[in-house]
Amino acid sequence: MLTISPIGAFSDNYIWHLERDGEHWVVDPGDAQPVASALAGASLNGILVTHHHFDHTGGIAELVARYHCPVYGPDGIPGVTKPLRTGDSCQIMGLPLSVIDVPGHTLDHLAMILEEPTDGGTLLHLFCGDTLFAAGCGRLFEGTAEQMYRSLRKLSGLPPATRVYCAHEYTLANLRFAAAAEPGNTVVLDRIAEVEDLRAKNKPTLPSTIGEELATNPFLRCHIAAIARRATGQSAAAEPEEVEVFARLRSWKDNF
Ligand code: ZN
Ligand code: FE
Repeated sequence: MLTISPIGAFSDNYIWHLERDGEHWVVDPGDAQPVASALAGASLNGILVTHHHFDHTGGIAELVARYHCPVYGPDGIPGVTKPLRTGDSCQIMGLPLSVIDVPGHTLDHLAMILEEPTDGGTLLHLFCGDTLFAAGCGRLFEGTAEQMYRSLRKLSGLPPATRVYCAHEYTLANLRFAAAAEPGNTVVLDRIAEVEDLRAKNKPTLPSTIGEELATNPFLRCHIAAIARRATGQSAAAEPEEVEVFARLRSWKDNF
């Protein structure tokens, strides 16, 4: 049995804690202390890291010193013992893990997909760091809009049931932007009500699913005429390129 739970860190980071048959892994440990507390005396078997930003890597050295565990992630990040590249696959906790590159937020950004066999077939768990957020996407710090859009398209093509584990609790602010970008989308409004309720109870709004994201995330809906119109200010007849719509949406959100 696989369990995946969030460990809160800093003001809005989630370090995902994976447990199966007594094995423990964490994803993007920006801070070691909350991980050690969550382990409650158990040992850490390994670390996954999606990109080089400090709020995702800051706890690695201390955790490795304490637990002597391997670190899987992009080549070049200090502490990584098993460099991963797009197309790689391996096993962790006895389950298949595959890797895709998703440049845009940073150039080294990777997403990892863990496959869990269930009665209903294989369930995919996507660890996407700061690339795809619930109802949003990461800022473009190193890559171009074109790179980021291509990366998001790789993720949005995963099966709709895929669970999406992002690294930050940004959902409510993202949904408020989604409502501005696509005022006619009632699924967005329903999701805002749901998420407001969860946040009022101090509960995480994650994981999301690819299906939910396809219905509510404006950055995955650049092909929708209403969004294209609002993002670019052009009439629907102008039919702007999707990547152009994406770039305009991203810079609108930067100043929202
Ligand atoms: Zn980041
Ligand atoms: Fe981050």
